[in-house]
Amino acid sequence: MPPLTTAQPTPLPHERARPLRPGSTYPARDLCSQCGLCDSRWVAYVRRSCAFLEQRFEAMEAEAHGRSRDLDDENELYFGVHQRMLTARLQQPITGAQWTGIVSRIGVRALESGMVDAVLCVQQDPEDRFTPVPVLARTPEEVLAARVNKPTLSPNLRVLEQLEGSGIRRLLAIAVGCQVQALRAVQQTLPLDNLYVLGLPCVDNVSREGLRTFLNSASRSPDTVVHYEFMQDFRIHFRHSDGSEETLPFFGLDTPALKDVFAPSCLSCFDYTNAGADLVVGYMGAEFGRQWITVRNPRGQRLLDLVETELDTAPVSSRGDRRAAVQQGIEAYDKAVRLPRWLAELVGLVVQRIGPKGLEYGRFSIDSHFTRNALWLRRHYPEMAQRHIPAFARRIVERYKLPTP
Ligand SMILES: Cc1cc2nc3c(=O)[nH]c(=O)nc-3n(C[C@H](O)[C@H](O)[C@H](O)COP(=O)(O)OP(=O)(O)OC[C@H]3O[C@@H](n4cnc5c(N)ncnc54)[C@H](O)[C@@H]3O)c2cc1C
Repeated sequence: MPPLTTAQPTPLPHERARPLRPGSTYPARDLCSQCGLCDSRWVAYVRRSCAFLEQRFEAMEAEAHGRSRDLDDENELYFGVHQRMLTARLQQPITGAQWTGIVSRIGVRALESGMVDAVLCVQQDPEDRFTPVPVLARTPEEVLAARVNKPTLSPNLRVLEQLEGSGIRRLLAIAVGCQVQALRAVQQTLPLDNLYVLGLPCVDNVSREGLRTFLNSASRSPDTVVHYEFMQDFRIHFRHSDGSEETLPFFGLDTPALKDVFAPSCLSCFDYTNAGADLVVGYMGAEFGRQWITVRNPRGQRLLDLVETELDTAPVSSRGDRRAAVQQGIEAYDKAVRLPRWLAELVGLVVQRIGPKGLEYGRFSIDSHFTRNALWLRRHYPEMAQRHIPAFARRIVERYKLPTP
């Protein structure tokens, strides 16, 4: 990526643009992921930056990483441009983090080392653990207060509005794919000298109301859930406020009740692995219990350098064959099949034993979501499906037989 200019940024569109009023219609309408861009003056750029109005993966990858992904390289096709992938966990995990806390530790070290002036991250509403509150954190404590996922749509880019006059010239943004796509599109207009982007893979996000429906249908005690994750053992792990853990096999989900729970933005998204970030920290390409790190460019390596001596690292691995399971899943999901609990447990045990592991699990999850989303788009937005599904996703989806739209 070319370095950001230290010259005066392009004048901001103060006069032309005003944040949209709450309740007014956002340009992407039902597909809006509430990334927050339209709540800032950068709404002026929404037409060419909103991930749901215009997809521009190739240009974004070329600008951010110096090239777009090589579609003939199976790993790049799936996981995007990268110079390195590895698995890791913090030797001293951060209590209360989503996994071991690598993301929070990078944020802390970026501030402590003077690499950045602030970290864009998401704290939680004091009244409701799952309501996201994006902030520009200026201290390690403020970064740590943002640890753990808020599995709800978060208006991260809203805080760009606070940059002017803040003294912040170097920023680390922690964000999911739709937020990063918009951020990259307006990057050159931001009043910043340096921007680092630490991405999270993201899929199946929900509104706060949708989260309630999901927890009510999936957990034995929805009101006490403080943390949950779909994990590589094909089970959803819920942690409750008393510290107890509950697990449910994916196949035991009440699919008919949940078909409409995910946000339309997420049902039309193909940026699962966060193509525009410098560094991505997730879990699904790693064996159970470890985190999965994708270094996309030298800036991403600089971020990883901040914590690499604190990590227990291992190479990525890949086992199994996902393809038959993906094809069966497409049909079962489409028919909204719900298995009785005993059968779901049995299928879960078998899949856990012989199912895909490591990068192959990552491909399983990508295939399952891309095929579902392609079908959803063709059914609900047939006029935009062709231009909205990026070339890499089309190549993946074409490997499977999809039901008639
Ligand atoms: C909605 C969502 C879905 C995800 N789905 C997957 C997946 O399918 N596969 C996968 O491999 N990884 C996924 N991840 C990433 C994964 O769950 C972990 O967040 C990641 O591995 C980092 O773990 P950690 O312990 O290092 O994070 P922590 O140190 O706990 O830090 C978590 C960070 O997430 C940020 N954050 C929290 N909520 C949001 C939000 N709603 N939007 C933007 N940023 C947020 C916070 O600012 C915080 O800095 C998802 C993340 C989110 C937020």
